[in-house]
Amino acid sequence: MGKKVNQEYQRKNGCKVPCYKSKYCVNASPIWVSDDMSGKMDGIPSVSTSCLVNPYCQARMKNGEMVCAHCFAETQQERYSASREHSIANYELLNGEILPLEALPRFGNVSKVRIESFGDLGSITQAINYLRMVAINPHCTFAWWTKNHNFVIKAIERIGYKPKNLILVASSVKLNEAAKLPAYFDKVFTVYDKKTIARDNIQINCGARSCVTCGRCYSKRTAADVREQLK
Ligand code: SF4
Repeated sequence: MGKKVNQEYQRKNGCKVPCYKSKYCVNASPIWVSDDMSGKMDGIPSVSTSCLVNPYCQARMKNGEMVCAHCFAETQQERYSASREHSIANYELLNGEILPLEALPRFGNVSKVRIESFGDLGSITQAINYLRMVAINPHCTFAWWTKNHNFVIKAIERIGYKPKNLILVASSVKLNEAAKLPAYFDKVFTVYDKKTIARDNIQINCGARSCVTCGRCYSKRTAADVREQLK
């Protein structure tokens, strides 16, 4: 993953678990930040957990009607052991307890951060930890993908507000069928197969080679519906 456990930071910060210093962050954190994403995510740091240990992801993967049955993240997680281990550790840490603010990643000179690339929410606790991470980084725009809307909604109601620098993206659970926009959410992201695109004249608008230059999911000024072709 191009990044090693930073023992000096770990010692300085008194971390009881390994702490990592991402090139995008100004602190070391036990929460792993993926900072060498490729493809359209090139240049965007991501904080993510693993679909391999998330019971909601696992259940959806077994259902052929769900987009999760075509999950690229499962293949990625099975193939890359370092990413898998860190994503699983993130899942355990973020779902275990409300983490102190000093344990959360603080980003430096970066404008866009993605939440969840390889997994999803497992609990309200995880959602509260993400909301707190967003709140302590007001200079960054966070785009947060989830199919588990209720955890986010309950977490926002628990803490009493949605940070202004947060874009909530509802991933449609079913292939070829856009979800309704849940409360507090800004966008719906739906994946379509080639047959449906041709039959229903679906206009694909997530085709950019780079999220950095596209930015559609990181702005409240762009259309709420985001459509991607199944890879
Ligand atoms: S629409 Fe743009 S910002 Fe959103 S995922 Fe696709 S390329 Fe990235």
